[in-house]
Amino acid sequence: MIYPIVKFGNPVLEKPAEPVTVFDGDLKKLVEDMFESMYEAHGIGLAAPQIGFSKRVAVIDITFKGDENAKLVLVNPEIIHSEGKHTQPEGCLSIPEFREPVSRARKVTVRAQDINGKWFERCGEDLLARALLHETDHLNGKLYISHLSALKRDLMKRKIRKLVKAGEW
Ligand SMILES: [Zn+2]
Repeated sequence: MIYPIVKFGNPVLEKPAEPVTVFDGDLKKLVEDMFESMYEAHGIGLAAPQIGFSKRVAVIDITFKGDENAKLVLVNPEIIHSEGKHTQPEGCLSIPEFREPVSRARKVTVRAQDINGKWFERCGEDLLARALLHETDHLNGKLYISHLSALKRDLMKRKIRKLVKAGEW
């Protein structure tokens, strides 16, 4: 099932998501729906709160259907190591039409559970590192705009408020 993407302004995006403790068919269905909803929205990463579920689940496919093996499911993820720094324009499905340069670690290691509850570690560099950090942030109720200067963030929020008023958000 394809869900609409929850947009900035909805409180579900700014509260820490609940840990997953049950690894059952409902979780598998949620992950399936998340991939479908992410592809439909032309994204390369999606966190469960972005379709309205406050659960610590994220999916990533930086190849966008290019490689079945690149599909990544992260349950209860935690960044356990990060190094380096790079700055790249970043966007978010929940904040459409906006992109801003964000500085992030260039290389990270994430520790997470898979769909069956088995713990694993995964290293990522560049775009994958950025996606791992962006999605893990989502599960902590944090959006990429929190990494921008207060000035830039306020400007964006003002533009968004105008869009909301115009019924275009
Ligand atoms: Zn996002």
